[in-house]
Amino acid sequence: MKDNLTHTGFSTKAIHVGEEPNLKEGGYGDVAMPIHLSTTYARQKVDIPTAGYEYTRSANPTRHALEKKLAALENAHYALAFASGLAAESTLILALLKAGDHVLAFDDLYGGTKRLFNKVFAHHSISISYIDMTHLDNVRSAILPETKLVWIETPTNPLLKLADIAAIASIAKEHNLIVVVDNTFLSPYFQNPLDLGADIVLHSTTKYIGGHSDVLGGAIMLSNIYLYEKLKFHQNALGAVASPFDAYLTMRGIKTLELRMQRHLENALSIAQFLEHHPKVERVIYPGLKSHPQHGLANKQTRGSGGVLSFSLRTNASSVPLFLESLQIFALAESLGGVESLIEHPATMTHASVDKEEREKIGITDTLIRVSVGIENVDDLIEDLKKGLAKIV
Ligand code: PLP
Repeated sequence: MKDNLTHTGFSTKAIHVGEEPNLKEGGYGDVAMPIHLSTTYARQKVDIPTAGYEYTRSANPTRHALEKKLAALENAHYALAFASGLAAESTLILALLKAGDHVLAFDDLYGGTKRLFNKVFAHHSISISYIDMTHLDNVRSAILPETKLVWIETPTNPLLKLADIAAIASIAKEHNLIVVVDNTFLSPYFQNPLDLGADIVLHSTTKYIGGHSDVLGGAIMLSNIYLYEKLKFHQNALGAVASPFDAYLTMRGIKTLELRMQRHLENALSIAQFLEHHPKVERVIYPGLKSHPQHGLANKQTRGSGGVLSFSLRTNASSVPLFLESLQIFALAESLGGVESLIEHPATMTHASVDKEEREKIGITDTLIRVSVGIENVDDLIEDLKKGLAKIV
């Protein structure tokens, strides 16, 4: 597979882009990209770096292969790989914003992103307004003269609210705002924000892209060369890059992304339907269910609703641990997007860093539970939940 793969199918790109075997003189024909650990690269001529490589923070062959693959998955011209999702976010904010700038963000962002804005960048005079982006009027009315960036996560975490990317991008364009979409929850297999008008896509590759809960990483994908050059400069200047070993592991995960996402979707839908009919469950939140208030938007802008769902129990908060701690297959753990099923309690785990008052205002109640549905046998997963639910009164 040696030619331009822009127009090939998802799995073909996921497997081959960035890893074309080198069959030229001196190449070994590796079908999997080797892990290039060298931190520096020797050259023959003073002013000509060998194959463009000088020092591994600036560019590394293994990371470069990953970046090519990541760009192909999001139909982007460029990608940059980082040590974590938050490293990608911090680099993006430092590159594109300055003191006095304002950001508009969805009110139900990942807790760590909110912590970054509220407890780190607020001290550098970058302000942020959290708004419910399910209503476009809220977006229009919250734009200030100093607004520079719109930060979308869709679906949100853990309430799985959706933002209409195309509609928000068109409002943002009228005001010259940069639109960033955190696409971690759906992965590029189910949603491509750049195709819907966003300027930048961001991923915690720690989740579905890596897919095996064994490698931390972050990525930025985009097609605007001016923004890319700025971000690439900051990637090197700040230095929070993906290591060669992490880049290799992430590429290894990507090769099965399509297969995994198909199974995550199938399993999540079956579990959502099971929970929806269970008497001890008050409400199931999953955009793939007809009962989700934005099911129509999900069908319009995504090719599937992914593997994360949330539900609230018909019980008091003190019974929640009884249910969670009794499960045998679901690991009681933060994070999502791995092959194994995880379950967590946002109020005390992922969203503990969000103030209680704010949590309750946006609907993260003490009986809300979030599930990252893995790719195990779905009957085993349902049986585990059934037994757990039988324990609560
Ligand atoms: N964005 C989302 C939606 C996340 O869920 C997370 C982590 O859970 C992040 C960003 C941060 O990524 P990382 O943990 O890789 O720094």
